[in-house]
Amino acid sequence: MSVSTPLSRRGFLASGTAALAGLAAPALWSRPARAESFVQPPLPYPDTALEPAISARTVGLHYGAHHAGYFRNLNRLTVDTPLEALTLEEVVVRSSGVPSLQGVFDNAGQAWNHVIYWDQFRPGGPSAPEGRLATAIEESFGGFEPFKAALAGTAATVFGSGWAWLEWHAGSLHLTGTRNADNPLARGRTALLGIDVWEHAYYLDYENRRGEHVSAVLESLVNWSVVADRLPA
Ligand code: MN
Repeated sequence: MSVSTPLSRRGFLASGTAALAGLAAPALWSRPARAESFVQPPLPYPDTALEPAISARTVGLHYGAHHAGYFRNLNRLTVDTPLEALTLEEVVVRSSGVPSLQGVFDNAGQAWNHVIYWDQFRPGGPSAPEGRLATAIEESFGGFEPFKAALAGTAATVFGSGWAWLEWHAGSLHLTGTRNADNPLARGRTALLGIDVWEHAYYLDYENRRGEHVSAVLESLVNWSVVADRLPA
């Protein structure tokens, strides 16, 4: 995700010398805006696409203020450090569990979590798991309905801000609740589905009724083919 600046410092000095020689060149102090290392992907649908389960107002704030803020903070915290050359995934793994990089982890984790989050709601997918994912859910949970109930239970028991995840680890499916920005990636697992249970994800639409929000997401928003495509080959 890192984009190198178009001119090295040395290149700049050379341009400056050219300017002194009377050639057209940017002035030394007009350094071009540098590309950000970590770029928030576009929302893959209009902000009304998740209604009525999630309102356009919530999507607008969640994507445009919260998610964008994590990217902005991450860029600020990593600029001019070796971390700016890494991918977002590498920053999450590298900063996890490192006390001096807690702020980096919090913002990198949340930047990554929400990319997973928005993408899995792309409209138009099947309304229930199919193929290998359906088989794995049947084996681990006894069917789609008990699976949804178990994931809703995991979401309900996350204390405070966090996430409920369906993840793939050691050849099978697992449900895990995590606090704050923590995620399966940081623990070497594969995230298949992430339900955001921070209050910003549901409070405008559901007030304190987290369970109602989670049920609406599971019943009407998840694109199960996006989830299935995250299964390791
Ligand atoms: Mn969120």
